[in-house]
Amino acid sequence: MKSLLILLVYFHTLLAFNYSLEPKSVGAATHCYFGLPEVMDKHNNGNMSNSCFVNMGTSYLVIDSGPTYQYAQQAYTQMKKIKNLPVSYVINTHIHDDHWLGNSYYKTIGAKIIGSSAFKELPQVTLTRMQKRISQEAYKKTTQEFPTIFVDDENILYLDGKKIYIQSVNHKAHTDSDLFVYIPSKKIIFTGDLVFNERVPSLRDGDISGWIDALEAIKLMDVDYIVGGHGDIIRKNSLDFTYNYLVELKKKILSLQEDGEDIGSVVNQVKMLQYKKIPFYKAIHRQNVEAAYRTLEWENE
Ligand SMILES: [Zn+2]
Repeated sequence: MKSLLILLVYFHTLLAFNYSLEPKSVGAATHCYFGLPEVMDKHNNGNMSNSCFVNMGTSYLVIDSGPTYQYAQQAYTQMKKIKNLPVSYVINTHIHDDHWLGNSYYKTIGAKIIGSSAFKELPQVTLTRMQKRISQEAYKKTTQEFPTIFVDDENILYLDGKKIYIQSVNHKAHTDSDLFVYIPSKKIIFTGDLVFNERVPSLRDGDISGWIDALEAIKLMDVDYIVGGHGDIIRKNSLDFTYNYLVELKKKILSLQEDGEDIGSVVNQVKMLQYKKIPFYKAIHRQNVEAAYRTLEWENE
């Protein structure tokens, strides 16, 4: 009986997936796991978005919980080696599932989970996008755990005497559920997917003008660090890549729309080839042009 148990435990560990996560110090008492500039698949198993831990003094504040239960568990295990603190809160920057499926782990250790009120409308699905694309081993133990504390406009948290602003963008930008987290005492802001680096941003669920407006507001803030949802550039210039891409895209589409060009012709003309070698260009640039064309056409009706 005992040997059977040992064998079962052995097979169980064999079936787990090791993400080999390494926390990187970014300053401002913060460590992040930076995801790969790749589409989620059975090799990276969803390790393609960022998850950050801020040492607030007596607990960690976690920004985005990652793609799976096992990812979150392994991320926290590594952090405990740096400083063994509990996790007080997890904040989900938006509803895309690479940023919150790790909630299922944090719930088991008693962390409180905060997210946009848009989560209230989010249905539990039979199979998540993540579940369809990554290995079953890596997804094991992951469940759809939504936040239980909601942000409509702005919530303020106090942890160890420090103020944390959790601010809703309040209009469609990357999604209609974007939050950013601002800690003035540490001069750091976590923007979720309002900021992408090292890969072309996705307008699939977004609004190009609203997104540009949100980035312009962030540009005015008094911060030293801007940490996005994808990519490991964390200084103030980290939003330039996304901002420049969106501004150029908008300008080009508007000018062609003024000339009366239809969507097919605009998609063929707005190539922005300087981004050709950037990951995701091939996969999503055309769709971005299409999505932006429709939003801008609608705005100018
Ligand atoms: Zn996203």
